[in-house]
Amino acid sequence: MARLLLIAVVGVLVWLLYKGLTKSLRAEDQSPPPPAAPEDMVACSRCGVNLPKSEARLVNGVYECANSADCANRS
Ligand SMILES: [Zn+2]
Repeated sequence: MARLLLIAVVGVLVWLLYKGLTKSLRAEDQSPPPPAAPEDMVACSRCGVNLPKSEARLVNGVYECANSADCANRS
């Protein structure tokens, strides 16, 4: 009887250990993605809005909104 109880206890311990390991492995997989690199901000010379450099265009040495329609609506 004592041997049966020992086997049951060892079985439960092994199951808990396995469950804990798989849970910690899953937690490592769901790590958040690295943050995006910061981007330079520039001010539009026409409307004055600050916007990311990728959304601006360089015209005659000054930055303007790449989307002219948005720029016209802001000013
Ligand atoms: Zn603008």
